[in-house]
Amino acid sequence: MSKNTPKAIRGTQDIFGADAEAFAFVVETFERVRKLYRFRRAEFPVFEKTEVFARSLGETTDVVSKEMYSFEDRGGESLTLRPEFTAGIARAYLTNGWQQYAPMKIATHGPLFRYERPQKGRYRQFHQIDAEIIGAPDPQADVELLVMADQLLKELGINDVTLHLNTLGDAESRQAWRAALIEYFRAVKEELSEDSRDRLEKNPLRILDSKDRKDKPFLADAPKIDEFLSGEARDFFTAVTSGLDAAGVKWVRAESLVRGLDYYRHTAFEFIPDEGSASADALGSQSTVLGGGRYDGLMESLGGPATAAVGWAAGIERLAMLVGERHAEPLEAMVLVEHDDGLGIAIELLAILRAGGIVSDIVAWGSVKKRYDKAVKQAPRHILRVNETGYYEITGNGSTERIEAAINQRADQ
Ligand code: ATP
Ligand code: MG
Repeated sequence: MSKNTPKAIRGTQDIFGADAEAFAFVVETFERVRKLYRFRRAEFPVFEKTEVFARSLGETTDVVSKEMYSFEDRGGESLTLRPEFTAGIARAYLTNGWQQYAPMKIATHGPLFRYERPQKGRYRQFHQIDAEIIGAPDPQADVELLVMADQLLKELGINDVTLHLNTLGDAESRQAWRAALIEYFRAVKEELSEDSRDRLEKNPLRILDSKDRKDKPFLADAPKIDEFLSGEARDFFTAVTSGLDAAGVKWVRAESLVRGLDYYRHTAFEFIPDEGSASADALGSQSTVLGGGRYDGLMESLGGPATAAVGWAAGIERLAMLVGERHAEPLEAMVLVEHDDGLGIAIELLAILRAGGIVSDIVAWGSVKKRYDKAVKQAPRHILRVNETGYYEITGNGSTERIEAAINQRADQ
């Protein structure tokens, strides 16, 4: 690399090899599971007007105040690379008149952008899988999403993470809780971390989420949401937990789990590696793999009608770190061209194998003497040696039944 070769941007990744296989496995498994649950696939723009995020997430959140990639385009409009999916999906729901599909089950995945300090499991361009149910006031929607998340993690082979569940109550309960938190933390304001002193009047719930040593001593005795829940909010939460129990999803109550964004109501949750587990070792301090909740107030903040909705997102890179080593599909057949006159037949053979669903490849170039070694190096199950007359011979281990069936099927046509 010469000195004037541009470097990659800090916090971005070029994903290849085993990491890329693990990444693809996460996405493929998500695609399979979302179909089982009848979520419809959708794609969304990578950038939106800045106000889409500023108004949905709230100006006081870390994402809006510190982490957004915002820029003016050539027309002078302020745009932002999406830092999360939900706000853009809500915008799409409103601008496309998707109310007609409610309750609308949507799944997507792709890149997100946040200006954060890069470290293990934390990047400036990262990727998420995302699932949302929009226009669904019923707690059954929360249950559906959580059962799907649980099944997805199991199908990824991740069995040492647990659902941490909380309720933030309805608007009324949340307001009362917020006031009590401000009163409680105001009394110890001088002893709090600088960040938390900042959050105190603007976003006191976030103090509960603090990882700062200075704040920790005050967290345990802070007022709990349960003291402020309205009867309705309590019933909603009970319906969610009973649904989870009925579906066999393990969960623990996490009273101080608040989630970073302003728009959450009722259910809030995160799947977190169990203490001392292999997944906890792999992820270090970046421990949430999947998080989400209910955001009934979001559509109104974008000027739309009140619309109940719930969703979650999971970091693909963090999941990929937990799925263990993934390998490419094994190579079933290698077509080896032993003489250049056999090339035409070999290419035909290769096309037939691939059309028949056989994972196959070809070695047809370079020194004839070295081709055999090149073929063997790829560790194929079988080698199909094609000579100058186009005659071929299959060698290797195990049954050649699938290969022969593919060839015969074509011959029959
Ligand atoms: P954290 O507390 O780790 O900053 P968050 O609350 O900001 O997470 P969400 O906005 O809920 O994260 O995003 C959901 C998931 O996306 C996270 O649980 C994580 O798996 C992943 N994620 C979030 N930010 C990043 C990042 N910068 N790099 C990689 N993955 C990320
Ligand atoms: Mg964050």
